[in-house]
Amino acid sequence: MDMFDSFVNAAKDACDKAGKMTEEVVAISKLKLKCSQTKAEIEKAYGRLGKIVFDCKKSGVENDELVAVCVAEIQALIDQLEADTDQLMQLKKLIRCKSCGYANPIGSLYCNRCGAKLDPMPEPADEEEAAPGEEVPAEEAPTEEPQAPEEPAETAAEEPKTEE
Ligand SMILES: [Zn+2]
Repeated sequence: MDMFDSFVNAAKDACDKAGKMTEEVVAISKLKLKCSQTKAEIEKAYGRLGKIVFDCKKSGVENDELVAVCVAEIQALIDQLEADTDQLMQLKKLIRCKSCGYANPIGSLYCNRCGAKLDPMPEPADEEEAAPGEEVPAEEAPTEEPQAPEEPAETAAEEPKTEE
């Protein structure tokens, strides 16, 4: 009876782990997609703002309200992108530096690029006994784009079969 129970539990555990792994992969792809979409939205919003400012300057009519609406819209998108990027980093076991955006390997206390103190991870995934220090190196973070450590175009193209 005990043997059987532990067998069942082990099987269940393995299933849970497999399920979690897949969920994680799906969540990562979805977030990546969402981030690249948000980045595209931000670019578009910058374009709109530029057009508004251009028209204002050209016609000599100030339209601060419209500019403010646009700025607020862009800020909201940036905030959303930051939140999603943080979530993505967490799933990928990376910690994003709040001051420079660099993706640091989990377990880092200070940013490897700018030296700022990093927020500790809220829940360091307890479902796997990952060896600390053997995580993926944070090589994906481009140096000149602190706010966007992901490459949007590539990732989106790599995942053609995303549901929805
Ligand atoms: Zn930093």
